[in-house]
Amino acid sequence: MIHKAAAVAASLAIVANGAQPEAPAPVAAPMRDLEWGQINFLHTTDIHGWLGGHLQEAQYSADWGDYVSFVEHMHRKANEKGVDLLIVDTGDRVEGNGLYDGSDPKGNYTYDIFGQQNLDILCTGNHELYQEDTVAREHSITVPHFKKSYIASNLDYIEPETGNQIPQAKRYIKFKTKNQNYTVVALGFIFDFDRNANNSVVVPVAETMKQEWFQSAIREKPDLFVVIGHVGLRMAEFEQIFKVIRDENWYTPIAFLGGHAHVRDARRFDDKAVAIASGRYFETIGWLSVDGISKRKTDVATSARAGVTFKRRYIDNNVLGLQYHAGVDEKNFTTAHGRNVSRMITEARKALNLDHKIGCAPKDLWMTRAQYPSNASIFTWLEKKVIPDTVINEERADKPRLTIVNTGAVRFDIFEGAFTKDSTYLISPFTSKFNYVPDVPYAVAKKVLQLLNNGGAVFQAGHLDTKYLSIPEQMAPSPFLGKEPSPPPHVARPIFYDGEQAQRPLVEDEDGGDNDGDDEEPELVNGYTTKDDLGDDGDDAVHSPIKFYSVPNCIQAQVAFPEAGDPETVDLVFIDYVQPWIIPALKFSGGDYDTDNITVYTNATLTDVIAEWVGKHWTEGC
Ligand SMILES: [Zn+2]
Ligand SMILES: [Zn+2]
Repeated sequence: MIHKAAAVAASLAIVANGAQPEAPAPVAAPMRDLEWGQINFLHTTDIHGWLGGHLQEAQYSADWGDYVSFVEHMHRKANEKGVDLLIVDTGDRVEGNGLYDGSDPKGNYTYDIFGQQNLDILCTGNHELYQEDTVAREHSITVPHFKKSYIASNLDYIEPETGNQIPQAKRYIKFKTKNQNYTVVALGFIFDFDRNANNSVVVPVAETMKQEWFQSAIREKPDLFVVIGHVGLRMAEFEQIFKVIRDENWYTPIAFLGGHAHVRDARRFDDKAVAIASGRYFETIGWLSVDGISKRKTDVATSARAGVTFKRRYIDNNVLGLQYHAGVDEKNFTTAHGRNVSRMITEARKALNLDHKIGCAPKDLWMTRAQYPSNASIFTWLEKKVIPDTVINEERADKPRLTIVNTGAVRFDIFEGAFTKDSTYLISPFTSKFNYVPDVPYAVAKKVLQLLNNGGAVFQAGHLDTKYLSIPEQMAPSPFLGKEPSPPPHVARPIFYDGEQAQRPLVEDEDGGDNDGDDEEPELVNGYTTKDDLGDDGDDAVHSPIKFYSVPNCIQAQVAFPEAGDPETVDLVFIDYVQPWIIPALKFSGGDYDTDNITVYTNATLTDVIAEWVGKHWTEGC
């Protein structure tokens, strides 16, 4: 009886508060509980400015203020249990949402809002490093704000006044946990990233591990190592770090918390070392618990025998779920601090005019939920409609051209309905403009796309792996990514918290019976159905699966071609992020060009051209 369940969900929606005023009412879902250990982590990563939550997706509509409230309740719960709770963020906090990108300078509001959360450990992502002013703001705002918890194991900052290269933050931290009194050594890395701005230095992980401070850090003999990093779990860096720490510490548990790949994932390195990645865009709050940790100093032999267990959960950023896990009903959920933070977000969104409507999307357009090419693919839409109509240099408008955009330049889907100022930043927050090489023989130019999409030897010399052109999910994919998801097995689960008996829904049947029957579960919402090294029960809410379709590294629009036959020459236009790959690709195709042949095609960004196209074409319907 789906409709009855839907009525339950709807009645909940009326009473649920928190989140942003424009946010859709949260949706109920059958839940899996959090499993607590002695040390527990709540983890965010790759928030990319989405502190206001998802205003078009009900199951992720809680905001940063709700998360502040949630953490307060969870700390109280941890204290009651006598265990420890650590709050972690692993970077890419910036770029990707109007709340950050819509202000000048960028982040006028977000640093303050983010800083309201009490974090125990945090580090930097690659998005904090692309632009000099972002690096500088991180150093002057976020690092001092979190001076006890910010770690930069392999990241330096160049001081503008002196030119001195200094650690961007502490190399590592050592502390005792509050309730269990465990000794923890925590490290914080960024992957071997090489497109950072000149006022920052990323030291390769392998090199970092030879440094003296690192060698003494791994000899500190803690009860638990915590390695956080802006590192994909399937990339090489965490594995390298695991091996070096494990060689020196055979029995010490190691908890890894990573990011960058924008996926929910867990990886087991051995029976005492597990890594979690907690998604993207504040859709997910990761939960990792470690149990069976022994105090190393008291008894090494016990350590050797003790069975350490790791549990993980991917919590949907859904107010109802947060209330459920916190064990608090909706009227007691929002704390004074949390309410204040939500208010800060509301005011910032208003000041930035993020709800300003540019147009109305007639349908959903997907990055990976629809096949490419297809009418439901955002990439097909860009290639066939947006780029031909808007990426134009007036002086060369009649020249045939190939325009290349990397799929990584697109960050989010488009949902049917209002397309706002905020939407443009969600889809593409980047400041990349368009450059071109004029009058390239078509026979040469037409080979470039294929090379960019197939990679191979042509790019190896310059360390130009073409995977960096693609979306984060595909750069170092989990072996489980894109595997046909199976519908979740039907298990009766608690739907939400009712104050007394968590196993029973809040609203009773009309006949007053308990709601344990199969027909009482709400209709499943589309969402993550994660498979990882620990199994397929990681998601806190039971979802119906979404299929993942892979995308190429780059797409190409063919514009102003002759009616019949091939053009002799074309302008090869490309988003400037792709430039390092263009020259080698042209060379390999038989075109002898260098950077002197490249000039600006248009100063508009992809964000600009999308906004322009939507404003012109999607004028009706909402
Ligand atoms: Zn990211
Ligand atoms: Zn990243």
